[in-house]
Amino acid sequence: MKKIGKYSFGIGDRFAHQGNAQLSALQKARKGGIEVTPVWNKSNREHHYVLSNPADTRKEADQAVKELGYKGDYCVDADHINLGNVEGFIHSSDFFTIDVASKIGIPATTDEVGSFIASCSAYTGQLNIPNITHPFLVDGDMLKKIADKFLTAITEAGKIYRFIADHKGSDNFVTEISMDEVESPQSPVELFFILKMIADQKIPAQTIAPKFTGRFNKGVDYAGNVSMFAKEFEEDILVIDYAVKEFHLMDNLKLSVHSGSDKFSIYPEIQRIITKYDKGIHVKTAGTTWLEEVIGLAVAGGEALKAAKSIYVQALSRKDELCAPYADVIDINPSQLPSPEEINGWNSEKFANTLRHIPGHPDYNPNFRQLIHVGYKIAAEMGTYYTDLLKANSDIIGQCVEENLYDRHLKRLFKL
Ligand SMILES: [Zn+2]
Repeated sequence: MKKIGKYSFGIGDRFAHQGNAQLSALQKARKGGIEVTPVWNKSNREHHYVLSNPADTRKEADQAVKELGYKGDYCVDADHINLGNVEGFIHSSDFFTIDVASKIGIPATTDEVGSFIASCSAYTGQLNIPNITHPFLVDGDMLKKIADKFLTAITEAGKIYRFIADHKGSDNFVTEISMDEVESPQSPVELFFILKMIADQKIPAQTIAPKFTGRFNKGVDYAGNVSMFAKEFEEDILVIDYAVKEFHLMDNLKLSVHSGSDKFSIYPEIQRIITKYDKGIHVKTAGTTWLEEVIGLAVAGGEALKAAKSIYVQALSRKDELCAPYADVIDINPSQLPSPEEINGWNSEKFANTLRHIPGHPDYNPNFRQLIHVGYKIAAEMGTYYTDLLKANSDIIGQCVEENLYDRHLKRLFKL
């Protein structure tokens, strides 16, 4: 079976122009002794807005690998797919992020719930997970609640997995299960029984993306209690370790952190915990590359800076429309957004410094950054005007993309 490496990075790219720069950042990490598998990911939603298709992502990945002479493994991820849209990704993808968030909370039949509860009898009472100091108290009520919440979703994941396996061959792809795009986080004990359901469905999941405590807003730092996150993250890792043995799941099953770019304040904790238990990690960082494109355009100046300003000004006038699909993953304070008049007076440096994620920089504005994050639809509407500017300024932009991924992300996460 195609197995994902211990460390992997989701390097999404809205407009498919930064494959080389992204891969180059990972090659730099490789030279530093840390092998991180590149996974080019793009969701159906992004394809829809950008008017691209899954074959474009495959083309970008293959081309970057060829041009840079990269010899390691890599994947193309059909990100957040469901039964309704998976078909279009079958041919070009070899990593599938099965998203069943929309089925969470839909109760299964009484029979299904009953037999799930019965199958868990060995874990009722005091459930002790090795290396977690406190036992979890598990009773029938708790199991029923967990089954009511998650059984339908994981049954659906089984259907999607089998659809992919039937069409692609079960050995030819990596499976991720994602439940991150929901309101409330899953607790470690919930994760344990979710993993039992995944095993019951015979899904050979290699990565799992729960929703963690705190806010994972797009393109900006973690907002929440870092020590609470660390406790939960550590327990999740231990739960996975135990579940792999108990339920015979894939032995390389690891956590996947969605909206994982720019979460600088939790990277040291993630680093510490995966090192402590010698575990792998997958981190999705898609949106941060698009932001670097806009930074690169601003730095380039002239027409490119004008385009960067225009993206912001248009995004501001269509704020509600652009923010709506991302309500759970952005947090913009409108009073902190600069006016179009203000922006007009900015030079390259001021625009780039306001957008670039350097914590503590006096010009950095996370509200401005999040609005541009959701504004890629505007760039998509600009069509070749935008992509021609990407081509004309590819050196400057490529440097921004590579530096961001390597210096601000990989270095911090893997202590390079
Ligand atoms: Zn996600």
